[in-house]
Amino acid sequence: MTTITLVQGDITEQSVDAIVNAANSSLLGGGGVDGAIHRRGGPAILAACRDLRASRYGKGLPTGQAVATTAGRLDARWVIHTVGPVWQPSGSDPSLLASCYRESLRIADELGARTVAFPAISTGVYRWPMEDAARIAVETVRDTETAVEEVRFVLFDERAYGVFAASLKGV
Ligand code: ADP
Repeated sequence: MTTITLVQGDITEQSVDAIVNAANSSLLGGGGVDGAIHRRGGPAILAACRDLRASRYGKGLPTGQAVATTAGRLDARWVIHTVGPVWQPSGSDPSLLASCYRESLRIADELGARTVAFPAISTGVYRWPMEDAARIAVETVRDTETAVEEVRFVLFDERAYGVFAASLKGV
């Protein structure tokens, strides 16, 4: 049974088994959550990402997929990098956003992670509307079979927290 919890704050300050990064497909760093994770986690994470680019993910990590690295100096054992879809006014594919949550939980299960912190994937630079993103995040986690005991959504501001809280209550 997975418990979903909500926290308002900075994902890099969480003590969990795995922290999910809203990465971009280059895996070589960016802004938002990605920048914060690399800043606080230190150079070991980027070194591991470079190794992935030199091996399994020569062309980058495809949208909707996930891969784990060390968490460096973060208070976690792993960072799970996943690439959210960019929201397009002309139509975006919600299944790719759902896939980020599902694939991250699959990787967490492979690793044996029991507590996993997620940011609101795609809702920053990738512009996915918060209400829709929150609904997809909550529904996908609820519908995914996993041994993860706690999924903690870490929302950066009060508004995002409120939207996720409403989604969790089903309003
Ligand atoms: P994406 O490129 O997938 O949109 P971003 O990192 O730009 O990813 O933003 C995803 C969400 O994470 C946004 O709602 C943003 O406000 C939030 N965010 C940014 N920094 C942090 C942080 N340190 N901890 C938690 N959430 C964060």
